[in-house]
Amino acid sequence: MTSPGIRAQGRAAVDELREWQRGLRAQFPIITGRPELAYLDSAATAQKPQAVLDAVHTYLTTTNANAGRGTYTWANRTTDLVEQARDRIKRFLGDPAPDRSAVHFTSGTTEGLRTIARDWLPAFLEDGDEIVVPVADHRANIEPWLEARQLLARQGVHVHVRPMPYQRGSGDYDHTALADRAGARTRFVAVTHVHHVYGGDMNVHRIRRAVGPDAVICLDAAQSVGHLPVSAAELDVDFVVFSGHKAMALPGTGAVWARQARGPAFAPGGWSGTPNTVGIASLATALDWLDAAGTERIERWTVALAARLTDRLRHLDGYEILGCRASLAADSPVPHRRGIVTFRHRDIPSGDLGFVLFDHGFMVRSDSHCQGGAGEKTDSVRVSLHVYNTVEEIDRLLAVLATMT
Ligand code: PLP
Repeated sequence: MTSPGIRAQGRAAVDELREWQRGLRAQFPIITGRPELAYLDSAATAQKPQAVLDAVHTYLTTTNANAGRGTYTWANRTTDLVEQARDRIKRFLGDPAPDRSAVHFTSGTTEGLRTIARDWLPAFLEDGDEIVVPVADHRANIEPWLEARQLLARQGVHVHVRPMPYQRGSGDYDHTALADRAGARTRFVAVTHVHHVYGGDMNVHRIRRAVGPDAVICLDAAQSVGHLPVSAAELDVDFVVFSGHKAMALPGTGAVWARQARGPAFAPGGWSGTPNTVGIASLATALDWLDAAGTERIERWTVALAARLTDRLRHLDGYEILGCRASLAADSPVPHRRGIVTFRHRDIPSGDLGFVLFDHGFMVRSDSHCQGGAGEKTDSVRVSLHVYNTVEEIDRLLAVLATMT
């Protein structure tokens, strides 16, 4: 059984936040326009509140110009908007020293991680250094580091890749094993804040202690920015990389925040051309909206919905919930799972289950979720939540799943 503590906390969160949530849900036209549908795929991309839609419309109808190139008002305003968005991101991420950090805009987390791997990491690493790669996380946080190693090898610089150790069966990092294996040559550690399949909070605040003061820690925050408070200072990381579109901004947006304290300055090379100005405008507004809504409350709401789903799903015959065992344990003191629940059915292939669920109006993800090779080998169904989701949607989903036991 889920611990009474978690259950009670979940119920209290739902009771306390119900009115607040209703007010926020009403701000998503795509959600309110189709009440018979339930969007349960926010880990893939999030829906956009009216404030973001308005910001896009206002920018394109009053200001649209290129940034950093003109001498007229619209161009100057666009340049300011881009610079202000950088400051906005620094504040949103709890930047401890904004005058000593950098923000680089990207199209999403994948491009952000690859930019670090291509433009920064090779200059940082030396022959014989080690990098830690989270081999059961998203491919976007694996492949760029392996590519960097190959690139360096062609130049005669040999870097060792150490797979991140995981706890057996849970998908969580094994921080003790990491500490045992990390040494003076462990210079770069790639980690994920919230696992995109298991939904587990990966306890990144414990990584620094495991790897020592000099290693660079690069955080994939694709599933945490917009879902919970993310503080680069508290987590003690050097890079934070996220996708704006998963944080309620337009597709094609994302950013790399770089602390600039260890290793060479992060200054992606070459002429980067016209920035995604309207996307950047949408991102700044999305972060304003999320701050005003309160990421701590968004976290409590989605955690409570995910706990409700796992708590009931585990009693339905025929379903297996993946990863995140700690939050299923009877005596677990912490609601370790965030707003993602992934499961499969004993007999029904996940793709088929996805179709059945869509017949009932539920939009879920059903495949192998771009997970790295060391992760689950078979497909599964992922339900991923955001602030616009409701208790009623979870209960309706459970009722449909119960018909297939
Ligand atoms: N990292 C994680 C943990 C993700 O969940 C995702 C997307 O699902 C990515 C990286 C890649 O993000 P994007 O497709 O926005 O580049």
